[in-house]
Amino acid sequence: MESHAGADLPPLPDDFTVPDYIEAVVGWRIWRTTGWPSEPILVGLFKNVLWPLRAALIAECDKHGDSAPVFECTCGIHALKWWRATEFRSALFNRPRDPYLVVGEVFLWGEAIEHDLGWRAANAYPKAVAVVVLDPLGNVRDAISVATRLSARYAIPTRVARRWEFL
Ligand SMILES: [Zn+2]
Repeated sequence: MESHAGADLPPLPDDFTVPDYIEAVVGWRIWRTTGWPSEPILVGLFKNVLWPLRAALIAECDKHGDSAPVFECTCGIHALKWWRATEFRSALFNRPRDPYLVVGEVFLWGEAIEHDLGWRAANAYPKAVAVVVLDPLGNVRDAISVATRLSARYAIPTRVARRWEFL
């Protein structure tokens, strides 16, 4: 397992508000990526939402606009409490068309609605992610390259993982 957690991460821009670690909750998520291999961007697995670089993702809802998350709705940025959740397993083991997925922790802050499995939050930013090579013959070098670029672009620690780490 190659580690790319870095001492030489670029500094965050001055106008980026780092979430308050005391108030922020940390959850787990899965992403796809777009922009391979040179300009990778995290994309929601179920909704085609691009996660911005060095800026908070802000929840939006068709019905509730920027007041998401709303209790009676399903809106908000979803994250799970536990990476062993069934959802992770089915995503990592039942999606043969995705050679790679990204799994990692996210900071959630602002309004957050907690449920048994996780949260729906108003704001989120990745905390640390792993590029998971799903195909047993998958190209680890590509994964390392994308992990390195994600680290630089989002200013977060990243690494490469094999999916059996998530069994
Ligand atoms: Zn809503």
